[in-house]
Amino acid sequence: MTPPSGAPPTVVLDEDALRDRVEALAHEISNDHPDGVVFVAVLKGALILLADLVRHVSVDVSVDFLAISRYAPDSGRVRILKDLDLDVTDRDVVIVEDLVDTGLTLAYLVQHMSDRGARRITTCALLNRSERRIVPLPVRYVGLDIPGDAYVLGYGLHADDRYRNLPFVVRADPDTLRADPDAYLDLYAAEPRS
Ligand code: 5GP
Repeated sequence: MTPPSGAPPTVVLDEDALRDRVEALAHEISNDHPDGVVFVAVLKGALILLADLVRHVSVDVSVDFLAISRYAPDSGRVRILKDLDLDVTDRDVVIVEDLVDTGLTLAYLVQHMSDRGARRITTCALLNRSERRIVPLPVRYVGLDIPGDAYVLGYGLHADDRYRNLPFVVRADPDTLRADPDAYLDLYAAEPRS
């Protein structure tokens, strides 16, 4: 359950767990792509995951970024604000996402990579909220599965473009943040309880 309004946020992934999970994902991706891989990170949420991930990948890596805007939540309509710079024709692509929820964005991005001629397209997401899936797309590399009602912040995940730089992921309360956008600034002072 999401913490009730006013309750302190709880840790979903602390720094040690993040390091362990990211290293394990990098290892798996390396094993599955001995000939190299193109990471395509979706800005801005996947930025921190990408930076940590690539440092542990032991095969040839290229990196590119996509910036998108969603027309409306759960609409599945996506506008590309920044497209790929690399040619991914016949390359193996791993799409890097902060969190896959409905899968609508991901479905669009997979099609976009396919249209660009990618040979194999898989996805790596720090968090997977499979209960809320609308498009039944598999996420090949998952850091952690979280419940459908968990609203999360930190390690790239933001609220109004803040809190991305928290070095851990917390489960927070959106109503608390709506009432007071500064409500979680204390998280920068001390690691919250698990
Ligand atoms: P979907 O899979 O529904 O198309 O979109 C998922 C995107 O919505 C994620 O990449 C993320 O940017 C945003 N999002 C979904 N759930 C949360 C959440 O709990 N916290 C934050 N900060 N962003 C979320």
